[in-house]
Amino acid sequence: MEMMMMRDFIPIAKPIIGDEEIKAVGDVLKSGMLAQGESVKQFEDEFAGYLGVKNAIAVNNGTVALDLAIKALGLQKGDEVITPAFTFIATANCALYQGLRPVFADVDARTFNIDPEDLQKRITPRTRAVIGVHLYGQPFDLSAVSEICQDGKIALVEDCAQAHGAGFQGKKVGSFATGCFSFYPTKNMTTGEGGMITTNDDALAARLRLLRSHGDTGKYNHATLGYNYRMMNLQGALGLVQLKRLEEFTAKRIKNAAFLNDNINIKGISTPYQAKNVRHVYHQYVVRVEDSFASSREKLMEYLLAKGIGSAVHYPKAVYEQPLYRELGYTNESCPVSEDVSRRVLSLPVHPSLREEDLAYISETINSFEA
Ligand SMILES: *Cc1c(COP(=O)(O)O)cnc(C)c1O
Repeated sequence: MEMMMMRDFIPIAKPIIGDEEIKAVGDVLKSGMLAQGESVKQFEDEFAGYLGVKNAIAVNNGTVALDLAIKALGLQKGDEVITPAFTFIATANCALYQGLRPVFADVDARTFNIDPEDLQKRITPRTRAVIGVHLYGQPFDLSAVSEICQDGKIALVEDCAQAHGAGFQGKKVGSFATGCFSFYPTKNMTTGEGGMITTNDDALAARLRLLRSHGDTGKYNHATLGYNYRMMNLQGALGLVQLKRLEEFTAKRIKNAAFLNDNINIKGISTPYQAKNVRHVYHQYVVRVEDSFASSREKLMEYLLAKGIGSAVHYPKAVYEQPLYRELGYTNESCPVSEDVSRRVLSLPVHPSLREEDLAYISETINSFEA
């Protein structure tokens, strides 16, 4: 029998929870104040401070953050909301929740982010909002997209679910427009489930706070139809510790990505492109499988799995190719780049708990792939 060195499986994502997180959550449990309270308030204040925005409103997940950000615009049934065709489905679904019509714009083949030129072409007299996505942790072109929105008096929402601490021209994402963050366990920082909305608009912040908690202005006085979208103190306490560690996590992600860039070297696999003037925080490290690659992406994934390396496809279809959207009549959206990249992208492990020997093993394994 061949001797094989046993290695631990390298997962595609892994949250880092240490003693400090465990203590913080334990302290909340012991206090008895489990639901939304002081820890959530403190988490909001520190998150706002970190981004350099006036308001942060914590909610129970990232999908709800997007849902409320769109809901708060008060749009009419049938109004159009433009989102990139290449993203996680929640980005577009938050328009559907409000009876609005998602319209899909194509993405740039190198950054995988919304293509401003294509966005411009999708604008109609009914366009009311654009949701840009900082996909994989790389900011979209905020200056071009903001300009298009300002010219058309169109609201801009930033889907920052993958981009905690990412920057554009020296400013943090989520501080340009209404920012929507997720703290799901695979994201760059976690509260288990969790989300945050960020804005410099005080009136909008007040509206979001009302919507989050049954429209309650205090003492069971309900001013508007609201929800229970609150975050728990348990999550707030976890978030406070994770936020303190975010810069250290991010530095490690960036360093890991640089290592993979330097060491992956096989014909037909392109390492990620990084735009100018951005801080890319590598939520995912995504390679492209080119036509010159000797085999299929799926074969490469199987090979990596057999060698103990997790990988994933974010995302295998353009949003409008999903059964849900086909059913809704989205049959001819023509976003060729989104469709093409959805067949080529492959996410490799880049999370902060990887050691240099793990990264070397991932690179060597990919380089030694034979079709
Ligand atoms: C994770 C994610 C969401 C949704 O966040 P949840 O907390 O899982 O609801 C939305 N948009 C993008 C781009 C995401 O990656």
